[in-house]
Amino acid sequence: MQILTASQALMPEGWQRDVEIRVGDDGRIESAGPMTSRATHHLDLLLPAPLNLHSHAFQRAISGLTEARGPDPADTFWTWRQQMYRFLGGLDPDRVEAIAAMVFMEMLEAGYGAVAEFHYLHHAAEGQPHDDSAEMSARIVAAAQQAGIGLTLLPVLYQWGGCDARPLAGGQRRFGNDPDHFARLHAGAARHVVAHGHADDRIGVAPHSLRAVDAGGMAAALALAGDGPVHMHLAEQVAEVEEVQAHRGARPVTWLLDNHAVDARWCLIHCTQMTPEETTRLAATGAVAGLCPITESNLGDGIFDGVRHLGAGGHAGIGSDSNVHIALFDELRTLEYSQRLRDRSRAALAVQGVSTGRRLYDTALAGGAQAGGRNAGRIAPGALADLVALATDNEWLCNRTGDTALDTAIFGGHGAACVTDVWSGGRHVVRDGRHISRDTICARFRAVMAELETRA
Ligand code: ZN
Repeated sequence: MQILTASQALMPEGWQRDVEIRVGDDGRIESAGPMTSRATHHLDLLLPAPLNLHSHAFQRAISGLTEARGPDPADTFWTWRQQMYRFLGGLDPDRVEAIAAMVFMEMLEAGYGAVAEFHYLHHAAEGQPHDDSAEMSARIVAAAQQAGIGLTLLPVLYQWGGCDARPLAGGQRRFGNDPDHFARLHAGAARHVVAHGHADDRIGVAPHSLRAVDAGGMAAALALAGDGPVHMHLAEQVAEVEEVQAHRGARPVTWLLDNHAVDARWCLIHCTQMTPEETTRLAATGAVAGLCPITESNLGDGIFDGVRHLGAGGHAGIGSDSNVHIALFDELRTLEYSQRLRDRSRAALAVQGVSTGRRLYDTALAGGAQAGGRNAGRIAPGALADLVALATDNEWLCNRTGDTALDTAIFGGHGAACVTDVWSGGRHVVRDGRHISRDTICARFRAVMAELETRA
């Protein structure tokens, strides 16, 4: 049992002063109410910590390596993909585990309480399966253990190199499975989660995209989902929209909504290329739009129509995707600024009585928990204790309270510096702004990066 007290906390009913929270040994909140006396660990401002709903952990290792132009004068996303495939060659299970542990640690230090890992790097360097086809999944589970982060593992089915069912080539072969192999891999991954994961870890399934998965693959993946979440990349790039339209006769979002019973179990990643009609249709399904504003900015994907989607009652959450920069508060700010730049507006996602930062944060909490299939995202009895505490007694937050403190953390640009403590499923993994295993995880990561550098 842990007893935490805080001077202010964001509760389901709104901001409360002087609260006391009891966290059971099962990692769940047992009670949340008025403070009786200050706990030894008294906190300043306490928030539920959102789940990071979209990550490809290994891509953290190429952060900063893809910012030059390639030989193609029309340097695009596709050049970025080539760089990624070249780099993939050096990634074996040990290195993937070390990189993932680093990424997960950075997420916790940034204020995320859990992660949904969209995991598609399954096989060895030439595309041959490991003896245990779920070996790489096991390493993601092990990395989450080292970091203490709650994990929703999403093994990815990746069949083809495009809508024309061209075979996977080069680095892509490490991702590929037919539906039968994938079913075995998924069962193996589920066993690793149960045997070696935290009690609060979960498994879902991820058909990669409409470009990479055919009708049979979709059916096979959905059959494995059970009551777990289903994630899929959708409508990220103009070229993808054109390709899907050419082969399937409809734009990606329209095609998916016309052909599958998309509901609250689904999380559709990006959706930066939607017509207004598609946006309101998607909002009505109850699915989560998985937004990754920093990566989408980095890749030049386009701007999600957050004003229309949230205005229509749509659900959304935040992911760090390529992990080029892991920064919860910056993701939220980037999402809002994209709307302002497009519409030449201010406070684009605020509504009457709810500030921009508060609406962004509430949206990310609810959407993240839903997308991760995780009973979290609120400080209430029964929910997992995914919590983040901020110090307000500093030159950045200037002792502000409530929505004003949240707005300042997001828009002032120093939210991450204010993070003092983070709990994931009751595990108190960040203390005084620093992850408890930072030295060990960093040392291993730096050694792996040096090895990869030498190899390149
Ligand atoms: Zn992605």
